[in-house]
Amino acid sequence: MAASATASHGSSRLRRCIIAIEGVVQGIGFRPAVYRLAVRHGLGGSVRNSLQGVLVDVEGDATVIASFVAELDALAPGNRRRASITWQEPRGSASAFTVDASLRSGTAELSPTPDRATCEDCLAELMRPGDHRHGYALLTCSVCGPRFTIVRALPYDRERTTMAGFALCARCRREYETPSDRRFHAETIACPRCGPLLAVRGADGAPVAAADPIRTAAAALRDGGIVGLKGIGGYHLACDATNAAAIVELRRRKRREAKPLAVMVTDLAAARAVGHHHRRRGAAAQLAGAADRPAREARGHRDRRRGGAGLPRSRSHASLHAPPPSPAPGRRRAAGDDERQRDR
Ligand SMILES: [Zn+2]
Ligand SMILES: [Zn+2]
Repeated sequence: MAASATASHGSSRLRRCIIAIEGVVQGIGFRPAVYRLAVRHGLGGSVRNSLQGVLVDVEGDATVIASFVAELDALAPGNRRRASITWQEPRGSASAFTVDASLRSGTAELSPTPDRATCEDCLAELMRPGDHRHGYALLTCSVCGPRFTIVRALPYDRERTTMAGFALCARCRREYETPSDRRFHAETIACPRCGPLLAVRGADGAPVAAADPIRTAAAALRDGGIVGLKGIGGYHLACDATNAAAIVELRRRKRREAKPLAVMVTDLAAARAVGHHHRRRGAAAQLAGAADRPAREARGHRDRRRGGAGLPRSRSHASLHAPPPSPAPGRRRAAGDDERQRDR
């Protein structure tokens, strides 16, 4: 397609084209990636979300546009596809490339973007002393965090998510507007200063005073308690997987006497330690790479019952294993029953 674009518009002259991309394109850092690509090619124009996907409007030298389109196609593999490319008369005025406000006309034909587990970069920030978001369990970026769970309407923009009520602080605003920043146009951007905070509620639903809710939850788990942990996409009921009495109590309350529970582990080494292995090769890599980090079925080597092992799915889950900022209480494991609920 790029080659034919070059052939039919091969001369060095100003052209303008509008490219529509459909599929899962919103909430995955696609607009920032298109922005960087266009700037690198020195093209003017804009990128914006629409009710059908993403619209890219570029103006510049025809051959440059052709190579831009080829690279754009490479940016949009899998469940994203270039739906159309339309050549138009250049306006001759597009010198800069911008991320524009979303278009809200037409019929919504979008595939909902799934929630995405906290990425490695965010996890590193969460655990890094001195980082702006150190210990902030609700951190996200342009490629990770809740999407489907928090979207109220499309196109996907902060004002149409449950984050709408949280005004950005100056620092988050700067990150949101800086093209080189990981959080450039990250609609879920938040920090301890401006974003939502964790809270603890007792069994009766009443608020419980807690200076550090993660530490409080970790302490409750350590003491044999059962914690309903709100994460990406709903609640997990969790208890200490090494505490037999707590597991019995969780099973009793859930009326789930025999069905295996998933065990949440910090990393692949810990997964192996609790007997996670799989007959298919590459399963470990799948476990690490799964965007939504579901519990993977596993077969324990001590007993032959099937169980499951999963990496922390959300940043609060990850914090539970090693609650920052003070020293982690060692690698703990939590057994959980996935209680996913939409929490719009
Ligand atoms: Zn991230
Ligand atoms: Zn902030």
